[in-house]
Amino acid sequence: MTDIDAVGSAPGRVNLIGEHTDYNGGFALPLALPHRATATLRRRDDRNVTVLSDGREAVPVEFDVETKPGDVEGWAAYIAGLFWALREAGHEVPGADIRISSDVPSGAGLSSSAALECSVLTGLDALAGLGLDPTTMALLAQRTENHYVGAPTGLMDQMASMHGREGHVVLFDAAAVTAEPIPCDLAAAGLSLLIVNTRVHHQHADGEYGERRRTCEDAARRLGVESLRDVQDHAVEQVLARLDDGSDAGAGDVMRRRVRHVLTENQRVEETVELLRSGRLREIGPLLTASHVSLRDDYEVTVQELDVAVDAALEAGALGARMTGGGFGGSIIALVDDGQATAVAEAVRDAFAGNGFTAPDTFVAVPSAGAGVVSSS
Ligand code: ADP
Ligand code: MG
Repeated sequence: MTDIDAVGSAPGRVNLIGEHTDYNGGFALPLALPHRATATLRRRDDRNVTVLSDGREAVPVEFDVETKPGDVEGWAAYIAGLFWALREAGHEVPGADIRISSDVPSGAGLSSSAALECSVLTGLDALAGLGLDPTTMALLAQRTENHYVGAPTGLMDQMASMHGREGHVVLFDAAAVTAEPIPCDLAAAGLSLLIVNTRVHHQHADGEYGERRRTCEDAARRLGVESLRDVQDHAVEQVLARLDDGSDAGAGDVMRRRVRHVLTENQRVEETVELLRSGRLREIGPLLTASHVSLRDDYEVTVQELDVAVDAALEAGALGARMTGGGFGGSIIALVDDGQATAVAEAVRDAFAGNGFTAPDTFVAVPSAGAGVVSSS
């Protein structure tokens, strides 16, 4: 007799390009990492859920399957919220004992939270025989994060974790809520994608994120559209001019720069997809760097460590580099020629040491598989 009923597994992600676009109905181009969370589930006969995570407290967190927002706080809220979201959507879920192990670095902009949610959800889907499709599961995980955990995040992370595919990036269209795999064979092009985790995580990141989001929503209102996606096909300068058409003092420089980032970033995603489709992977480099400059100067979500890492990578010969994830810390990516990853990583480490920063973590990312059930009985 086995005491395991289902095992769900889901990856973290890194975003190649398309930052702060998802909550504006735009495009992003993430890839699933080889780093994964694994959720091992055992069905219970009662209505209780216990959760344990390797490396966290040894005593399980317990809650009822009928949990509501506010009942559970801390990391276990990411799991309790899934039970709440599933029940809200009309699904019956049994009690369960759940154990998590994950090698996705937490708080590094690599989406350990989506990996956690999607691993549990995939396991629960199997355990309860729900037969949910990956996009529905991504939406349930986002609902958990927004309304149970209380983090106002977009859908990109969960879509990447659910839809990732080996050797591919995922073109996420936030307005259409679709995920299309786009071939991205870095190795065949003689390239590597270096990730540098700055290990910086700023306390005020959530507040800043919320503020950027509100500014974009205000801008959309001023433009008389539902989201910035609705003006994506217009010339950027024309949209910025329209922002000032109101009767009051105008949109202001900050709003104009935020909107300029969103619109140009979506264009960069589209250009990146074109280059990938035509096998011109090396030419993506300048788009990555332009994305960073836009996030630094227009969206103002970088911090010194991210800027130093990007500059050092470029000086060491990277073809392009940018911060990835929400910003205010987290990670950068650098597109490098094969064989250059070690030297570029070394250059970033030297620059960090020279600035008195904590040493960063570095690794090479390979586009990997999305969430799935490992085994169930
Ligand atoms: P990111 O998703 O970029 O790693 P978040 O702040 O969105 O950063 O999510 C990190 C949070 O997710 C952690 O603070 C913790 O609550 C939860 N988490 C992530 N991985 C684990 C894990 N292995 N075990 C328990 N909780 C985890
Ligand atoms: Mg997260």
